[in-house]
Amino acid sequence: MIKLTRPQLDMIIAHAREGFPHEICGILSGQNGQVETVHEATNVAPNPRIRFSMDPKDILRITDEIDDGGRELLGFYHSHCHTQAYPSPTDVADWPGRWYPDALAFICSLMDEERPLLRAFHIAEDGQIEEAQIEIVEGSV
Ligand SMILES: [Zn+2]
Repeated sequence: MIKLTRPQLDMIIAHAREGFPHEICGILSGQNGQVETVHEATNVAPNPRIRFSMDPKDILRITDEIDDGGRELLGFYHSHCHTQAYPSPTDVADWPGRWYPDALAFICSLMDEERPLLRAFHIAEDGQIEEAQIEIVEGSV
């Protein structure tokens, strides 16, 4: 179970819509399973319509911010423009979370334009995918 506030959810969806038709990406940090900060990152993949590759400079900057704030890296998020909110084979193969075994893979799908969908998954080292429940709570960004 991971908790997100409504404004944080809206922020991720807004980021995904802004980036469309390219995939966008970022990092979520917080503590005790409650997301506190949405960190936007740059997608530097050469084919950003179908892939994401987080800029290593952003990863460094954001993980420093998280460490300085005494927070935990809770997850990595990215968008899917035309496919469902489920990890693709590439997402599993390139999952940056292997360095953060507890981090979740959040995927925001814009497949249904009217109803963007955010889902979270735990991707194990052996490629096993398990969905994690997202609880939307009241609160600020
Ligand atoms: Zn993906």
